[in-house]
Amino acid sequence: MTEVRKIILEDHEMPTQWYNLAADIDVPPYMSPEGAVPPEAWAPVFPMNLVEQEYSKERWIDIPEGVQELLKLWRPSPLHRAFNLEKALGTPAKIYYKNESVSPAGSHKPNTAVAQAWYNKKFGIKKLTTETGAGQWGSALSFACALVDLECKVFMVRISFDQKPFRKLMMQTWGGRCVASPSQETKAGRAMLEKDPDTPGSLGMAISEAIEAAVTDPTGETRYSLGSVTNFVCLHQTIIGLETKKQLKKAGIKKPDIIIGCAGGGSNFAGLSFPFVYDKIHGADIEIIPVEPYSCPTLTKGPYVYDHGDSAKMVPLVAMFSLGHNFVPPPIHAGGLRYHGMSPLVSKAVIDGLMTPKALHQLECYKAGLLFAKTEGIIPAPETTHAIAEAIIQAKKAKEEGKEKVIVFNFSGHGLMDLAGYDKYLAGQLSDYKLPDETIRENLKEIEDYPKPQY
Ligand SMILES: *Cc1c(COP(=O)(O)O)cnc(C)c1O
Repeated sequence: MTEVRKIILEDHEMPTQWYNLAADIDVPPYMSPEGAVPPEAWAPVFPMNLVEQEYSKERWIDIPEGVQELLKLWRPSPLHRAFNLEKALGTPAKIYYKNESVSPAGSHKPNTAVAQAWYNKKFGIKKLTTETGAGQWGSALSFACALVDLECKVFMVRISFDQKPFRKLMMQTWGGRCVASPSQETKAGRAMLEKDPDTPGSLGMAISEAIEAAVTDPTGETRYSLGSVTNFVCLHQTIIGLETKKQLKKAGIKKPDIIIGCAGGGSNFAGLSFPFVYDKIHGADIEIIPVEPYSCPTLTKGPYVYDHGDSAKMVPLVAMFSLGHNFVPPPIHAGGLRYHGMSPLVSKAVIDGLMTPKALHQLECYKAGLLFAKTEGIIPAPETTHAIAEAIIQAKKAKEEGKEKVIVFNFSGHGLMDLAGYDKYLAGQLSDYKLPDETIRENLKEIEDYPKPQY
């Protein structure tokens, strides 16, 4: 008998609702010096239809037909059985991966980009601003804005703008306007350039510029968009896990044993895992593992605190695991996953004991990425290799224990725009780096006196 390698859903089998984990766990509210932040306070930043989603406690939220149509350009995405990888490992475990690399931008990010673009358009917005580091989010949003005819302006961290021309070219091809940050176009950018004309820029800086550009537009027709962390982003990503459930059922799998995803801001991991967290809350025995790098160990080393989402402190306090909003990722690390904070929903699920986070070193991850590329074929994004490495660890453990476990991980994106990282790895120029506890303590000093999340 030949076994099925890809489980495919037809267009009409795509889920028509998102799952909202906020209906099933309690997350402490956003805070400002005046107390809990009401929804209206976000009005200059996000359109109110998305703010409503951010605060919603409804378990199931309908995916508007317009958004479904946009998603169907590439969804449903395939669920693959990694037979070749299993064979290479000699494991009795069944390894499945959800392939989010099939989207036009090459990752899971368009799942929320098209939804955000659609809701903004519906609200009468004409232009979106955002920031991007290596360019994955900027390219996803440029693509989405092209589909619904919105203007898109991306502030790209200067050093990436200079060193990584290809994502920038993708943005431009889709009609996005990409400027190096800091730029002359905002007050924050000009101030930064005056202080240090040769600054390489940072994600925190680019966020401040993007928010300023949105809230100061005198027409009131510009809003800000972001690619991870918030509740509505995680909500939009749950289509990944909801499809996976249908696909596992088709493959005759009643219940997976282990769910794995890499975690930067937490959105792709949330997308695959939240529908399974729902099952776990209702008694299912599933191990759910977010994987992060040792160089940015937010969930494994950071405290659960109130902290700002950006370095310029423009956004309110968020209850989350954090390494401090001034955290600067070490340059030694080639992969993504460098955000100092974590999605509030993922953070609270960890506090509630529903997930068991893990940190891995980058050399082990690149090694796993290479094995995956040589067996299953697709070259993974450096972020994605963290999920692969953990899946391999779990598959080896299943072999030692002689157990036929079902392991599912999220293949968040391909690495065809990240070959410079592979170049460094293959040339032996990368090394492991563990963020020292002392550095974490230093970073967190500034937020010592902030209010503590109550739960
Ligand atoms: C952006 C990105 C990530 C990290 O972001 P999350 O919000 O944690 O998912 C992971 N993988 C890929 C391919 C990405 O582009």
